Amino acid sequence: MIYLDNHATTCCDPRVVEAMLPWLSEHFGNPHSLSHSPGRLAADAIEQSLSQITRSTNSPEHSIVMTSGATESNNLAIRGVCLHPRQTRRHFVTVSTEHPAVLDVAEELRRDGFRVTRVAAYQAGHPCAGSVDLDRLADAIDDDTALVSVMWANNEVGSIAPMKVIADLCHARGALLHSDATQAIGRIDVDVRKTDVDLVSGSAHKFYGPKGVGFLVVGNGNRRVRILPQIVGGGQQDGLRSGTMNPAAAVAMAKAIELANHEMRSSQPQIMGLRGQLFEQLRSRIERIQLNGPELTLPGRLPGNLNLTIDQVEGEAWMSATPGVAFSSGSACSSVEPGASHVLRAIGLSESATRRSVRFGIGRFNTEPEIMEAADQLVESYRKLQQLTGQ
Ligand code: PMP
Repeated sequence: MIYLDNHATTCCDPRVVEAMLPWLSEHFGNPHSLSHSPGRLAADAIEQSLSQITRSTNSPEHSIVMTSGATESNNLAIRGVCLHPRQTRRHFVTVSTEHPAVLDVAEELRRDGFRVTRVAAYQAGHPCAGSVDLDRLADAIDDDTALVSVMWANNEVGSIAPMKVIADLCHARGALLHSDATQAIGRIDVDVRKTDVDLVSGSAHKFYGPKGVGFLVVGNGNRRVRILPQIVGGGQQDGLRSGTMNPAAAVAMAKAIELANHEMRSSQPQIMGLRGQLFEQLRSRIERIQLNGPELTLPGRLPGNLNLTIDQVEGEAWMSATPGVAFSSGSACSSVEPGASHVLRAIGLSESATRRSVRFGIGRFNTEPEIMEAADQLVESYRKLQQLTGQ
């Protein structure tokens, strides 16, 4: 199986597995039992891990809350800010191309009586297609806006948002900014201090760490950031997220982000090269392929992202007919709610074009022979499907 679905998840780097193993076996202390050495050892490991995450994202020390992943981080950031008892503003702003882990939270807020604005993204054909339309965003934020949530990079078409510009827009009107950086962390430079974003979500399984662990950067030096905990209990993590922390997961996430950042300079050109090869192979052998989203360059688009619309053949059918290659049609992230991708629809693709679209995510473990083999298999299965449809 050739794995080209690195936006859905990435494999756990063997060096990450190695780093976490002792924390699953010999070092089993409870990191909140500080009265004995096994507990203190685990607490130290967690502290060092969170410190590594602050360094890798250039966030202030002690600003990290460890969570179960980006879905929880997004919930904590958005519900936490908007529903805090001292929150006086009643308006939440987000974007039509966000992940369901933001859009569904927004709908809940609407049911709770919040005013919610979903700003449009730049349309297909625009150099920043999929990213928030900055003029419309500026128009949407008003004096009652508590929080704006804009993703750092899109999980389907890879568009990268200008976070510093967006933070300035928000702060000028007294609103806070949250960013779902799940797809950006480890792939491009995510500098929390430089961009001035107030809350940032991340998830380890997107940067070659394990599933079920993530983090939220809270505050970034902005004292106006107050969040209402969403999980209460033992008061761990300064009461912001109760429950015994997981040292193995913390160590793994820290190792993963450290490696991803350390290897970014070499992995970016390698991944972009492989993506270019895949695109060239497919475009030169399959007629009328269309690229969705921004141009295949940095800083506009994530290095490994390729989203294509093909002629005549549905994405689902192409996937089923190509069992040797893992890729996705629409978004695997919302596979519980199958249907046309809301992101492609939001940038103006027709229902039919959306159903004929597929997403590839090239990762740092992919190789050139894999890309050439995947292209051969994809072209062959496409031809077969084309014949079946009688074209
Ligand atoms: N946001 C984005 C942009 C994502 O791509 C994903 C994962 N598909 C999530 C949030 C959810 O992350 P997790 O699986 O860690 O809850």
